[in-house]
Amino acid sequence: MPELVFFSGTMDCGKSTLALQIEHNRSTRGLQGMIFTRNDRAGEGKLSSRLGLVTDAVEAAEGFDFYAYLVAHLSQGNRADYVIVDEAQFLAGEQIDQLARVVDDLELDVFAFGITTDFRSKLFPGSQRLVELADRVEVLQVEALCWCGARATHNARTIGGEMVVEGAQVVVGDVNQSPDEVGYEVLCRRHHRRRMTAAAAHAAALSPDVLPVDPSSPADSVSRSPSSRA
Ligand SMILES: [Zn+2]
Repeated sequence: MPELVFFSGTMDCGKSTLALQIEHNRSTRGLQGMIFTRNDRAGEGKLSSRLGLVTDAVEAAEGFDFYAYLVAHLSQGNRADYVIVDEAQFLAGEQIDQLARVVDDLELDVFAFGITTDFRSKLFPGSQRLVELADRVEVLQVEALCWCGARATHNARTIGGEMVVEGAQVVVGDVNQSPDEVGYEVLCRRHHRRRMTAAAAHAAALSPDVLPVDPSSPADSVSRSPSSRA
C-alpha cells in the first residue's frame, strides 16, 4: 500500500540528507522519483543537504497544486514512481491534502520532510496537516544536539546570535549564518525557554557576573540576569 510518510525533526537533524538518500536508493533500483521543495537554502528548484549534496527539484511555490501537477506529468507519458517533498513545513494545509490524494488516487508513495515547529515552538501549518494526515510520522534518529550536549528539540531564531521570539513565521535563513543576519540554532527545550543560545552561553561564561556568587551577599544571586543561571 502506498503511504504518506512525514519525516520530522528540528533543523540540522539530517532531513534533506535522508531525502537525498531515499532518492539515491530508489533511483539505483531503477525507480524514478518526482522531487519537490520550497525555499531550499541552495535556491529555487534545488534540494540540498548541509553535507554538500544537491539535486534538482520542482519548486512548490504558494498556490502550487501537487495533485494537478502529477496528473499532468503522468498523462503526458512521463514517469513517477514516488514523490519526495522537502521543506514541507512551508506548504499550506491544502497542499498536504493534495499529497494525501496523490497517495490514495495515484497510488504513489509520498515522503515528506519537514521541521515540526517554528522558532516560537508552534507547529508550522504544513507540519500540522502532515501530523493529521500522514500514515506514518517518523521522528528522525539523526539527532541534532544543543550546545550543552542535550538532544536539540527546538528551533531558535537568532539575530546577531541573540534569540528572538517575535517576527514572521517564515524567514529563510540557516544555521551557521554570519552575525547580524537572521539565523537559526537548535536548542534543547530548557535552553530554548531560557533563550540561551551558544553565543549567549559563551558570553555569560566570560562575564564577571556569573563568577561564583559571594556567599556573603545572597541578594546578588537574586539580581543576576536569568541567562546566567543556565
Ligand atoms: Zn541545552
